[in-house]
Amino acid sequence: NLSTRLRTVASFVKENTTLADIGSDHAYLPCFLVHEGVISKAIAGEVVKGPFESAQKQVISEGLQNNIDVRFGNGLEVITANDNVQTVTIAGMGGPLIASILETGKEKLTTVDTLILQPNVHAKAIREWAIQEQWKIDQEVILEEHDKIYEILVLVKGQMKLSEKELLVGPILSKDKSPVYLKKWTNEVNEWQRIVDELNKLQGTEVQQKKQLLENKIALVKETL
Ligand code: SAM
Repeated sequence: NLSTRLRTVASFVKENTTLADIGSDHAYLPCFLVHEGVISKAIAGEVVKGPFESAQKQVISEGLQNNIDVRFGNGLEVITANDNVQTVTIAGMGGPLIASILETGKEKLTTVDTLILQPNVHAKAIREWAIQEQWKIDQEVILEEHDKIYEILVLVKGQMKLSEKELLVGPILSKDKSPVYLKKWTNEVNEWQRIVDELNKLQGTEVQQKKQLLENKIALVKETL
């Protein structure tokens, strides 16, 4: 049974699109989408041998070899021009790793119109990359599963402007203020405040700078709670 996290990622995949799922591990996401009849063609990319073999096994055991091509390689390098990929999903990694995969392989994105990204942490790195490379946020979702909080960002081509605050917390998520959003950022603010309290016991310019940085972030995020 597919996790709520991956189901939510899947819910943003448009019908009949050609998908590349990068860092696919067991290839659960493309298998689910083909079974549901949403898509009929996908590439599952993996750079680590174990997960690559899991993906191959899964695809064979579900009899989906004609639909899902499991490829070994780093990030977007598994995509070729002939594939005509329109949608890329990258889920279950840190935001900085997702951003670096996109940056390294950005010349592979010419046919791609939708990026569905699910960072486990530091979604900010993705928002920064998006602005730099002229992608804009179409949708944002935050959800909790098994005591972990995940963000999902759907990017389409275009320009956007984000404030420092929106870069950090998300322009849509901070407007929606869902209970999960409030929980995540209340926890973060409390954690930063705890560090500030510790830093207050110390001296030195470096300590003061670190404290100032945290206090700025606390003030920024608190405005959205
Ligand atoms: N996407 C699946 C999910 O969300 O459940 C699997 C997530 S798993 C935690 C991350 C996977 O990404 C691992 O299998 C890892 O081998 C793969 N990975 C990490 N960096 C990668 C890269 N540069 N290119 C391709 N795969 C990568």
